[in-house]
This record gives sequence, C-alpha cells and structure tokens, in this order.
Amino acid sequence: MNFMAAKTTRLDRLLSKAMSIKKADVRQIAATGGILVDGVPCKDVSRVVNMFSTIAVDGKCYQDIRPCYIMLNKPAGYVSATVDKKHKTVFDLVQIDNSQNLHIAGRLDLNSTGLLLLTNDSRWSEALTAPNKNVAKVYRVVLKHPIGPDYQEAFRKGMFFPYEGITTQPAKLKIIDERVAKVSLTEGKYHQIKRMFGRFRNPVIALHRMSVGGLRLDDGLGEGQYRDLTPAEVLAALDG
Ligand code: URA
Repeated sequence: MNFMAAKTTRLDRLLSKAMSIKKADVRQIAATGGILVDGVPCKDVSRVVNMFSTIAVDGKCYQDIRPCYIMLNKPAGYVSATVDKKHKTVFDLVQIDNSQNLHIAGRLDLNSTGLLLLTNDSRWSEALTAPNKNVAKVYRVVLKHPIGPDYQEAFRKGMFFPYEGITTQPAKLKIIDERVAKVSLTEGKYHQIKRMFGRFRNPVIALHRMSVGGLRLDDGLGEGQYRDLTPAEVLAALDG
C-alpha cells in the first residue's frame, strides 16, 4: 500500500530518463507490448505512473520501490539528519535495507524525543509538513519555570519571528501541571516551541512529540525502537 497521491510522472518521461533513450523509442517498445506496469502490459506511454509503480521493459526492471513508512521513538542525543560530524543520527537506529532512501517527515531537535516519522514517500511527508494542510503535531513540554496565565493567548494569537519574517499559525497550549504543557502546532519552524516559550524567558527542559495528526506514538516502542506503520496509520497521520 502506498499513500494515494505518491509522486507521479508520465511513463514515457520516466523510461526515456531511466533507459537514456528518446520518448519516441519508448513509444516503439510499448507498441510491441514490451513494457509492463505493475505486471500488466501497457501500450499507452502517456499513462501516469507513480514512484511505487513497478516498471519493467523486456524483462528488465527499471523501477521497483516498496513504499516505506516508519515510526521511531526518538531518544535524546540523536540528530534528525542523514549525517552529522559530532552526533549519532536517527538513521543509526534504523537497521533496514535501503534506509538511505528514507527521509525524515518533520525533524526533532537533538534533545527532543518521541514520534519521528521516516519514509521514502515524498508526497506523504510534504502533506504532513505543509502548513496549509493543518496536520497537528502535539508535544509534551516540560519548562524550567511555572507557566504563566498569559501564555495560552500568546500561543493562540501567534508570534512574530523576525528572522523568518512570519507570524506563527495559531497554536494550542494546555496546562497539564505547573511546569508541564501540551502544545499543538500545525507547522514546524526551527526550534519553534523553544522560541515561543523563550518569549517568556522560560527555557524548555524536555520536549516530547506525542502525535502527528491522528497517529500516536506507540506506547509499546521503547526509546530508539521503531516499526512499520499499518496502512490505516499512514492515512491517520494525515488527519488534522
Ligand atoms: N519545537 C522545538 O523547539 N523543537 C522540536 O524538536 C520540535 C518543536
């Protein structure tokens, strides 16, 4: 199963690039019945295929990518990047074939913990992180000082970030305890939560992502553990 809107392209475009031949030559091969899309002969080279369609020509496979969606319980001390000179990266935790083809759908800071999503489906990750899609990311935040009565309204109204020249989207803040809050964001600006609490000179001590859309971090996953998402979870993550 792949997310329905996986990246698409025309069959002739894909094959002329993959085989280094002209589109007219692709058309000729197609006319002979030599092109299989998902195992079925395809003579229509204008057909739109996606990055997870299996494409073979005269018995040779030119595209065969299995969609991959992983949830990882990120521990503190790992960088959300593919390589880092100083620290281990989250990819050091994921022991699967072709993990180098995965990317991170919404990074977490070095010392942040919790739900991190890895995938090779760029359409899915774009949909999760695009501000206009309003997918809520919920964090449990522990603060150094007590949370003030004015925080909630400031988070709701949005804060101007001069460096980016933007005002943050309305965010929800729920006070759980004197120094513990649940924060829900629909975007992910650089160090966003730390900077928002920074406006009140209240440093963040711990930051844990609990959910993305309708997808919650599996309680059964210990720190550093990961598992594939179920097809229902792939879709649930997109629910605001
Ligand atoms: N906001 C932050 O400041 N850090 C994170 O890791 C996530 C959101």
